[in-house]
Amino acid sequence: MASSAQVAIITGGASGIGLAIATDLATKGWNVVIADINPQSGTTAAQTIGPNATFHQTDVSSWDSQLSLFKSTFQKFGRLDFFAANAGIDDKKSIYEETKEELENDEPAMPFLKVIDVDFVAVVWGVKLASWYMRRNPGRKGGVIVMTSSAAGLYPMATNPLYAGCKAALINFTRSVASTYIQDGIRVNAICPALVPTSIFPGNLRDFFPEEHITPVSTIVSAYNKFIDDDKLTGQVVECAQDQHYFRTQVEYPSESQRWMNEDSGE
Ligand code: NAD
Repeated sequence: MASSAQVAIITGGASGIGLAIATDLATKGWNVVIADINPQSGTTAAQTIGPNATFHQTDVSSWDSQLSLFKSTFQKFGRLDFFAANAGIDDKKSIYEETKEELENDEPAMPFLKVIDVDFVAVVWGVKLASWYMRRNPGRKGGVIVMTSSAAGLYPMATNPLYAGCKAALINFTRSVASTYIQDGIRVNAICPALVPTSIFPGNLRDFFPEEHITPVSTIVSAYNKFIDDDKLTGQVVECAQDQHYFRTQVEYPSESQRWMNEDSGE
């Protein structure tokens, strides 16, 4: 069934930043597909948002799963106007802990590789698939892609080095593919949030950071909307932190690395 409303796919749309974007677009009349690995929160999110939202259970780190997401969305709605490559996970262990485990088990640590799969490889797959379908949009060819990178992609982050590396890779990936895709009317941009209170943090962010440094999720939604609405923006990367100066000066390099080195030297 073809649809006259605009159509969006939001990965990681069941929670946090993705859920806020999905809710905002659905409220404006878009058809929104929430693509998330979590069936409980994904189903609840779609039901709460209402009839403009559907849930497609998706593991972005699986090519087959993403292909099924894009194929079924295009089949159902007949077009794709917006793709948020937003699903993300962070490092669960320090780089020394991971290395120790790898040497003990004589194989690469899977959670470590999973971060690369979800935070970088999956985004590349999603961008390729989104652009493939956006090129085939009937009538108004083209669309908008936004990747959720991170301030951790801009500054060192000793606690999450692999996450930071993947998020940095997204920044230059964004700048690099933008010139190719603009030929088909597809704009590609990236957002670098910092300290948004979501479930990606194991505890309550407000227990660790002063309120004035917490970035409201509405700031991220506004940045997403700017990229959707301003047809001149492509290849752009925007930092979304409530207090950019604070974040820049709080980076944990090298003191945090030093702490881990000290802990590790006693093994
Ligand atoms: P969140 O944990 O609330 O949401 C992440 C969502 O991604 C969850 O619904 C989760 O189920 C989903 N997800 C995880 N693995 C998946 C997979 N393999 N396939 C499909 N879905 C998967 O966290 P959030 O803060 O809303 O994170 C959204 C994005 O924002 C992430 O890319 C994150 O790295 C980025 N980000 C967040 C902050 C912040 O301060 N919260 C800062 C910088 C960047």
